Amino acid sequence: MTTLVKSRVSTNVLSILAAAFIGIGIITVAGHVQAATLHDAAHDVRHATGFPCH
Ligand SMILES: [Zn+2]
Repeated sequence: MTTLVKSRVSTNVLSILAAAFIGIGIITVAGHVQAATLHDAAHDVRHATGFPCH
């Protein structure tokens, strides 16, 4: 009985960790994509305005 409860709890912890990991991964990837998009937009503006950048 105790073992069953323990294994159930650890399964829940694992699934919560897995869900958290996937969620953090999605947020991280989305954040990087957004940062790259913002960076590209800022870069285009710099070139369009003739501002030296590289
Ligand atoms: Zn540039």
